[in-house]
Amino acid sequence: MAPRKLAAGNWKMNGDLAALAEIDALIAAHPAPGCEVLVCPPAVLLHPMKRRIGGGPVALGGQDCHAKPSGAHTGDIAAGQLKDVGAAYVILGHSERRADHGETDAAVAAKAAAACAAGLTAIICVGETEAQRDAGETLDVIAAQMDGSIPGGATAANTVIAYEPVWAIGTGRTPTNDQIAEVHALMRERLAGKIGDGAAVRLLYGGSVKPGNAAEIFAIPHVDGALVGGASLKAADFGAIIAAL
Ligand code: PEP
Repeated sequence: MAPRKLAAGNWKMNGDLAALAEIDALIAAHPAPGCEVLVCPPAVLLHPMKRRIGGGPVALGGQDCHAKPSGAHTGDIAAGQLKDVGAAYVILGHSERRADHGETDAAVAAKAAAACAAGLTAIICVGETEAQRDAGETLDVIAAQMDGSIPGGATAANTVIAYEPVWAIGTGRTPTNDQIAEVHALMRERLAGKIGDGAAVRLLYGGSVKPGNAAEIFAIPHVDGALVGGASLKAADFGAIIAAL
């Protein structure tokens, strides 16, 4: 059976209480059966967002979590705390966190293990820089990031992998369809060797997904949905991407 498609919106450090109204339109534009919609607002908006979406068709996710379940880690958030406010997912190892906070593959794997232990599904991000692509290193980089960032105990139920070329995030540039297909085929093959039900793990593409390119990207083999940044902030744009799933 084909994996259930997923459109995940990453609000990053954008939005405020007033912006939560965007979600009403998404709830109204109920996705097709077999598709799942997820919004990942900043941490301070998780609880009010959950109150707004209730038990409806839109799921809630965090943008990071700590590897420890609790303790003296000022400013951090435990996976169990995300779960407590109604999150079902957490994005981990986004390239902005890898760059801004020096997150290593090992740190991402520890966070993903904590997320899974708390009952969350981890969306683990991997992706090459432009310099790495130009040097012909893309497939090696992706393979190494997957090997280092996916924890033991990962399954199709608790793990999603997002391929996000760093140079495509927020730039309006996207890889060619063949380039996306090549990386997703590698990811599928790698997962099969690593996870028992690797064929069922959802593989998202992320990086400048827009209403105008979503359908084409979703038609690429082994693309099971998208991780969307900028275009997830407006219900009209995100709704159009969801409709293309
Ligand atoms: C992202 O940050 O995960 C992302 C894909 O951003 P954008 O869609 O804005 O490129």
